[in-house]
Amino acid sequence: MNVDLRFRQIHLDFHTSEHIADIGSQFDPEEFAATLEQAHVNSITCFARCHHGWIYFDTRAFPERRHPHLTRNLLQEQIEACHARDIRVPIYLTVQWDHWTANQHPEWLAVNEHGCILGTPPFEAGFYRELCLNSPYVETFLKPHMREILETLPVDGFFFDIVRPLACACRYCRARMEEQGLDPADGAARKRFGLQTVNRFKRDMTRFVRQFNPDCSIFYNAGHVGPRHRAVVDAYTHLELESLPSGGWGYLDFPIAMRYARNLGVDCMAHTGKFHTSWGDFHSFKNQAALQYECFRMLALGAKCLIGDQLHPAGKIDPHVYRLVGSVYAEVEKKEPWCRGARAVTEIGVFTPEEFYGAAVGGLPPALMGITRMLEESGHQFDVVDSASDLSRYRVVVLPDNIPVSPVLAARLEAYLASDGALLASFESGMDEDKDAFTLKALGVRLKSAGPRDLQGELVRGKPFMRGDYAEYVLPVGAIGQGLPETEHVMYMRGMDVEAEPGAEVLANKVLPYFDRTYQHFCSHRQTPSSGQAGPPAIVQRGRTIYFAHPIFTQYSRNAPRWCKALFLNALGLLLPEPLVRHDGPTTLQVTVNEQAAEHRWVVHLLHYIPERRSQDIDVIEDVIPLYDLKVSVRVPQKVKAVTCVPEEQPADEYIRLPFEWIGDRVEFVVPKLVGHQMVALNFDRT
Ligand SMILES: [Zn+2]
Repeated sequence: MNVDLRFRQIHLDFHTSEHIADIGSQFDPEEFAATLEQAHVNSITCFARCHHGWIYFDTRAFPERRHPHLTRNLLQEQIEACHARDIRVPIYLTVQWDHWTANQHPEWLAVNEHGCILGTPPFEAGFYRELCLNSPYVETFLKPHMREILETLPVDGFFFDIVRPLACACRYCRARMEEQGLDPADGAARKRFGLQTVNRFKRDMTRFVRQFNPDCSIFYNAGHVGPRHRAVVDAYTHLELESLPSGGWGYLDFPIAMRYARNLGVDCMAHTGKFHTSWGDFHSFKNQAALQYECFRMLALGAKCLIGDQLHPAGKIDPHVYRLVGSVYAEVEKKEPWCRGARAVTEIGVFTPEEFYGAAVGGLPPALMGITRMLEESGHQFDVVDSASDLSRYRVVVLPDNIPVSPVLAARLEAYLASDGALLASFESGMDEDKDAFTLKALGVRLKSAGPRDLQGELVRGKPFMRGDYAEYVLPVGAIGQGLPETEHVMYMRGMDVEAEPGAEVLANKVLPYFDRTYQHFCSHRQTPSSGQAGPPAIVQRGRTIYFAHPIFTQYSRNAPRWCKALFLNALGLLLPEPLVRHDGPTTLQVTVNEQAAEHRWVVHLLHYIPERRSQDIDVIEDVIPLYDLKVSVRVPQKVKAVTCVPEEQPADEYIRLPFEWIGDRVEFVVPKLVGHQMVALNFDRT
C-alpha cells in the first residue's frame, strides 16, 4: 500500500544525552502545537527512541531505557497536542545506531573481516556503532519495543532510522551464511548477504507492524534512495529522500535521487534542515532564500516538503525557528493546489551508474552529476533510470560514460531503438562488464585498442591527471560544433580508441597532441599542444544513436568545460530537435514540467536561486535575484486555453493571465517577472 503524504512536514530530532538534566521540563503541549500550526506545519516526526538509546515515553517494557532525566511522558503529550490540531505525528525510532544497546550488548554489534567493530571507536565521541540485524537484537529488543509503541500510543507512522546493508562478519551472520551454503570468508558474498539481510528485515518488520496497525506509514531510512530500493519498495508506504544540501549531500543529490525515486510507484518527500549545516547544529539558522529554494525545488520535482529541526533538551519549541519555517511553509501551502497529484512530464531517460557501482551520500557517480547539471542548465526534462525502467516513455535515453551493457540490456536497448527511440552514449558505456568490447552494436563503433598505459601499467583512459598528461583534442565542425569556434578543444581525460563501423558517420575526429606527457617528453606546465594531426573518431552517429569517445559527463562534473556541454547539447539537438521546453533565461534557471491529469493542466515550474561556494565547507544562498521578461516555449500535446501565473492572490494583477502564441505544437509566452519561484499553469481544453 502507499500513502498520500502531507506537504508541510517537520522531522524533530531529539538525540539527547543522559548528562543533561530536566529533559522536557519546559515542554508546553499547547505552545508546541500552536507554534507548529502558526508555522503551517501539518506533520511532525517525533521521537520514541534516539541514537543514545533513550526512550521518551512512559515505557513499562523497558524502564531501564527510559531517559534517566525525562520529566514527563513526552512523546504521548506531543502526539495528543498535535492530533488536537490535525497535525500528523509519525514516530521516529533508531535501528542500527543505539549507544545504550551497543554498550550493553557488544556481542550484537556488526564487525568487519578483521573482527573489529564498525563505527565509533572507544575513545571518540559519537553513537555510530552498528547493530547487526542478524543478532538477537531484533527479536529480543526491537520487536517487543515496537509492540509496546503499537499497543500504547496512537501511531500515524514509523520512521525507522539507520537501516543499512552491512558486509558483516559477526558470528550470527557467519552462521546464517553457512546455513545457506554461502562462503562467509568471501567479501563479495558477505556484501550480497548484507543486502539480503536488510531487505528481509524490512519485509519482516512491515509484516510485524501490520499485525497491529493496517494503515500507518512506514519508511526505512539509510540517507539515500537508489536502485537497490526497487526490489524492496513493497515494504515501504512512501519514500523520504534525506538530502540536506549543506549537510554533506550538496545541492545535486536531491534532484538526482528524486528523478529516480519518483518512478518507483510510491509518494515521495524530501528532507532538508533548518540548520546552517547539518543535523545536530543547535542554535543555527538556514538563510531564508536557501530554505525557499530547497522547499520549492521539492515541489518542482514532485516531492512533498520536510524540514529537519532538533528540539532543545528542555523541550521548549523555538519560536524563531518556526517563524523561519512558517515564512516558507505559508508559501508552500498556497502553491499546493498546483502540486497535488502531480507527475513529471519527461522525455529523456538517463541511466545511472549507481545500479552497477553503488553510491553513497556525498559520493554519487560523477558522470550522473555531470549530465544532471548539463540537462538542468539547459531546461531539459528528464528522469534517472536503471535497466528495469520502462524506456518506452522516453524520446531519448542516455548512457553516461560508464554504463556496462549485458546481452540482455543490449537486446532491450536495440528493441527500444527499433520502436523509434534514440540513444546517446559516451566513453565505456555500451561495452561488456570487462570493458574489452562493445556489446551494443547500435552504437556503430568498434574498439581499436585499449589505449596507452601509465608507468604503473594501468590504462590511462578516463583517468584524471592533474597536468593533463594524456589529453587529446576535438575539432568541432558542422552541426555538432554549433556555437563553438572551429578549432581544437581540449579533452582533459583520454577517450576511447574506436573505429566507426561501416554505415556510421564520424561527426568529429580527435586531434592528437605531439606526444603524451611523461618524464621522457613533456611541454610546458600542462598538456602537450595539438600537433594538428587528425586522429580516430571522437563523435560518431549511426542512425538514431550518437557516441562520444570521451567521458564528457565525468569531465563536466570535475571542472565544467562549457564545450563539453555544448557538444552534448548539440548532439542531443540532432536526436531531439523539438524539446519539451525552451527558454531564453540564464543557465542558472531551472525549469520542470508537471502534469495534473485530474485538473487537465500542466504546471511549469521556474526556479531561480544561485548556490554560491562562499565557504570552504558548503554552498550558500543568501539572495533572490529576480529575472525579467523570460520567454518560455513548451511543446504541448493539445490546445491550451489559458496560460496563468499561479498562485496569484490579486485578481487585478495584469500578469495572472499571460498572452500566448502558437508556434506549431508549441505554446510560447513571456513571464514578466520571476522572483525565486514561479509556477505557470497551462490549462488544456477538456474536450
Ligand atoms: Zn552480523
